[in-house]
Amino acid sequence: MSSPLQEPIFDVVIGGGGLVGAALALALAHLDLRVALLEGTPFDDREQPSFDERTTAISNGTRRAFEALGVWARIERDATPIRRIHVSDRGRFGFARLDARELGLDALGYVITNRVMGAGLWGCLAETAVQLISPAHIVGMEAMEGARRVHYRAEGEATRTIDARLVVAADGARSILRESAGIRASTWDYEQVALIANVFPQRFHDYVAYERFTETGPLALMPLSGGRMGLIWTLTKTQVDEMDRCADAEFLARLQDAFGFRLGRFTRVGTRYRYPLALTRAGDYVAERFAVVGNAAQALHPIAGQGFNLGLRDAASLAEVLADAQQETGGQFDPGDGLWLERYRLWREADQANIVRFTDGLVRLFTQPLGPVKLLRNLGMLAFDLMPFAKEALSRLSLGAASRVPRLTRGAPLKHAH
Ligand SMILES: Cc1cc2nc3c(=O)[nH]c(=O)nc-3n(C[C@H](O)[C@H](O)[C@H](O)COP(=O)(O)OP(=O)(O)OC[C@H]3O[C@@H](n4cnc5c(N)ncnc54)[C@H](O)[C@@H]3O)c2cc1C
Repeated sequence: MSSPLQEPIFDVVIGGGGLVGAALALALAHLDLRVALLEGTPFDDREQPSFDERTTAISNGTRRAFEALGVWARIERDATPIRRIHVSDRGRFGFARLDARELGLDALGYVITNRVMGAGLWGCLAETAVQLISPAHIVGMEAMEGARRVHYRAEGEATRTIDARLVVAADGARSILRESAGIRASTWDYEQVALIANVFPQRFHDYVAYERFTETGPLALMPLSGGRMGLIWTLTKTQVDEMDRCADAEFLARLQDAFGFRLGRFTRVGTRYRYPLALTRAGDYVAERFAVVGNAAQALHPIAGQGFNLGLRDAASLAEVLADAQQETGGQFDPGDGLWLERYRLWREADQANIVRFTDGLVRLFTQPLGPVKLLRNLGMLAFDLMPFAKEALSRLSLGAASRVPRLTRGAPLKHAH
């Protein structure tokens, strides 16, 4: 604790420049703060784990935040709107629909590849005063008097350090920063794997996203440009190993069997990727001069497409807390002060609890093999289709309106106008 701080002392250092860390850096660039972003893998590297070929469904709230941050204009042409969502259970009578028009919306959300979002976010960041340090592989962190010190390594170089009043962990589910801060995380392994691929159906998707519950687990098809669909198929580890051994024709036949012919025949499949699925939750959102955002705070099952949207709300909330603190104090403020961090913690706890309960509950409900649960599911889905209120509740949850909504995701500027 006694060694002197190293100039410049940053107001905020963000560790991890994936989807959430990059969005947070961009939001903070709108405040008059000295900010640095450390990222292990350059954003345009093929190995960048946050910006791979996965497609992500973003909510209208996330789209509004992207608009406010100037990202949307760069990525809009690559985003496919979701006009309807169709939920069904293989071999059962229940199904449900959500329609954007019924809710007075243009779209329920948008589908976009992570690679495009990464390029958009980092493209915007390059035009700000945020200090971008990449490749910078974080190896640890220590507490200092009035600051935190982050240790990182660029390829082939000796370890360097950087000091900040506040360090934010955005380095994903296995966050080294979170561990260094002494925040424990619990992980529940779903013993499932998400198989991801682009598939080409005979019929045009007409901007409908499909979620189908099969014996193996949920299967989602998201509308993409050029008539393609982004497949996210949840399988057991054994099943996914088996699928890996299948040639494309055999794979497509199995997909056809699970999904049916609503979109005609599947004619082609692109490269297949796999992601093990777990629920990871940090024991706390904050520690001394430290906060966690995104997957470092919670990594969810992708069944309901909530992970990034929730992580973005973490970033938008933290940026808003700091913007308000700056305005309240007339600019002379310490961003690592526990008072602000406590505000952030209280805000995030409610939102996280809602979304985790919703997502985890959905996983459990739809992977239950028991008869009565299935019956409940069918009735639930039929009732859901007949109940506009239930639908509205679900879509409000998807829009992130279940708890206090950050200004950015409402499309309002981060700073209050005087
Ligand atoms: C199959 C699948 C489908 C999904 N679909 C959706 C969806 O439709 N909608 C949705 O909202 N969410 C979805 N998600 C969730 C979403 O992808 C994540 O919530 C999101 O990627 C979290 O972003 P993040 O920036 O917090 O973490 P990450 O994406 O994990 O990024 C962490 C970043 O930190 C960097 N890093 C890690 N360690 C270090 C270190 N030691 N030093 C320096 N840098 C480091 C990494 O290189 C990376 O850039 C899906 C997830 C999966 C697995």
